[in-house]
Amino acid sequence: GVEPGPTHPGESRLTVVSGPSGVGKSSVIDELRRQAPDIYFSVSVTTRPPRAGEVDGVHYYFVDTDEFRRMADAGQMLEYAHYAGNDYGTPRKPVEQALAAGRPAVLEIELQGARQVRESMPQAQLVMLLPPSWEDLVERLTGRRTEDSDIVRQRLDTARRELAARTEFDATVVNADVQSAAGELVRLITGHGAK
Ligand code: 5GP
Repeated sequence: GVEPGPTHPGESRLTVVSGPSGVGKSSVIDELRRQAPDIYFSVSVTTRPPRAGEVDGVHYYFVDTDEFRRMADAGQMLEYAHYAGNDYGTPRKPVEQALAAGRPAVLEIELQGARQVRESMPQAQLVMLLPPSWEDLVERLTGRRTEDSDIVRQRLDTARRELAARTEFDATVVNADVQSAAGELVRLITGHGAK
């Protein structure tokens, strides 16, 4: 459809939202979608198989390794990374189109990808979602009980590394409750609040 024309295209910004597994990223992003329908949310490409309820083209574009490689080699990814045994990447074009149209754009990606965006787009804003406490995160990661302890331990290690990278980020948002965390993110993403 035809989008409203850009008002101040130069001011639209790209925001990267990262945070350790278990911090509640998807609930906060879902709430963010409700609060700010004008924001463009990037749909990533992944080689991970879909989980129950995930829809191709909505949650991810699900591709095989060859297709992923082809897109990456053709320069079609803004960033990409290998994470927990699978490849994930951000298709470049839709993000560029959203920004050119004056829409704020959001990537919900992991740390290696966030670092690539920092390098290639220094004007991008990096926001890390934090748990209220380390104990809270451990509770959420172990309380799921969907995986064996080896995987939980790996996740805790990864989470520790990701949290340690908070100093590389422009802002942090504590997810004590989903509504206020989403509200804070809206302010950061739409630029009502300084970078
Ligand atoms: P999940 O498999 O649980 O959906 O996602 C695993 C991790 O991959 C999450 O931390 C998520 O933020 C990250 N991720 C999702 N899409 C992308 C992407 O396009 N690029 C990068 N670098 N990470 C992504």
